[in-house]
Amino acid sequence: MKILVLNCGSSSVKFALIEAGGGDERIVARGLLEPVGSIKGTASCELPGGDRHVRTVALPDHNHAIRAALELLVEPDVGVIGDWQEIEAVGHRMVHGGDRFHEPVLMTREVAAAIAECAILAPLHNPHNLSGYFASLSLLPQAAHVAVFDTAFHQSMPPRAYTYALPHELCARYRVRRYGFHGTSHRWMAERYAELEGRPVSELRLITCHLGNGCSMCAIEGGRSVDTSMGMTPLEGLVMGTRSGDVDAAAILQLMQWEGLTPERMDILLNKSSGLYGISGISNDMRTLLEHAARGDERAELAIEVFCYRIRKYLGAYWAVLNGAEAVIFTGGIGENAPEVRARVCRGLDALGIRLDEERNRAAVGREMDLSAQGARTRVWVIPTNEELLIAREAFRALREGGRKTA
Ligand code: ADP
Repeated sequence: MKILVLNCGSSSVKFALIEAGGGDERIVARGLLEPVGSIKGTASCELPGGDRHVRTVALPDHNHAIRAALELLVEPDVGVIGDWQEIEAVGHRMVHGGDRFHEPVLMTREVAAAIAECAILAPLHNPHNLSGYFASLSLLPQAAHVAVFDTAFHQSMPPRAYTYALPHELCARYRVRRYGFHGTSHRWMAERYAELEGRPVSELRLITCHLGNGCSMCAIEGGRSVDTSMGMTPLEGLVMGTRSGDVDAAAILQLMQWEGLTPERMDILLNKSSGLYGISGISNDMRTLLEHAARGDERAELAIEVFCYRIRKYLGAYWAVLNGAEAVIFTGGIGENAPEVRARVCRGLDALGIRLDEERNRAAVGREMDLSAQGARTRVWVIPTNEELLIAREAFRALREGGRKTA
């Protein structure tokens, strides 16, 4: 079955065409349309062999952007499909499903309305995700449309993990609580680890680390998320590329007063000017920071240290939450490709049975691998993630389980 995966943001549309079925997915093409909102944008598409096709197109809105993606896919030069009709399903990445969605769902009018209601929790994401859905529904009415939520996997968290210690009625009124994100990625790490170990996921206690531009960790018991580091929004928890992660809320209030910052300006400061970039003043890119730190740059070094220390603190916390774990798993651009970061995170954790094999850690760049030293009690793995493949897999699963109806 050919599934088109769409990730629609405010100024771009990422897409991937995936041949899916029975856990054996294959990327046929992937691409990017940007900037949406421009009359002179770029549509690009890359094939697995490395062939890249780029066109200049008008991208005034999501409808034109998705149409441009489909036109590119049927171009004889690109040649991946003959006709749009071949696309049987569309998997939509939806950022926030609130407490309403525990799993991927077939899109209907009611589902779209419920996602729109969650927009108050993710005003920068859900409206664009939905606009992409309506655009693709009009272009591909024959396809089944499935929403796959970043938040769904974490809906299994117990109240003690998702409740903020703020006035309870106020939180209930505005649905303020921890939701968590990167759910498809955390779920994939747990399921893949179980597959690699040949054991049911229901028997396992795992700590998963998704370290990309956005970073989050998850405590997983029996295949279910029991705690995660991101909160009501993706700002909380670990240090990220440009997001602060945990900060004393009182410090934020003081800064707003001292600098005369509006909530909108503070939001930008916390989400776009903080994290690795904020500490180092150099870059949000871990590669660049590792290079600067190796040349003796103190701010780059500090940024990496704060980043790794925060992960270690969460690791300790989740160790207590789970009463021990049998594996720690890394994924994401940093988790998969930065042995130095993994080494710093895992150093001095012998008490938890964590010891890396240095050679294996160095060799594990962008590939699935067990990094643990021989005899170490706790496994440490790299399990690469691929968001588009996972969305296609979850969409396929939802269709198989839920029948094939469209809105
Ligand atoms: P996103 O969250 O946007 O999907 P990625 O998962 O691609 O981001 O992760 C991006 C991060 O991964 C950047 O900080 C980048 O520097 C880092 N990264 C990618 N390759 C390497 C590498 N070889 N060494 C260190 N960091 C890397």
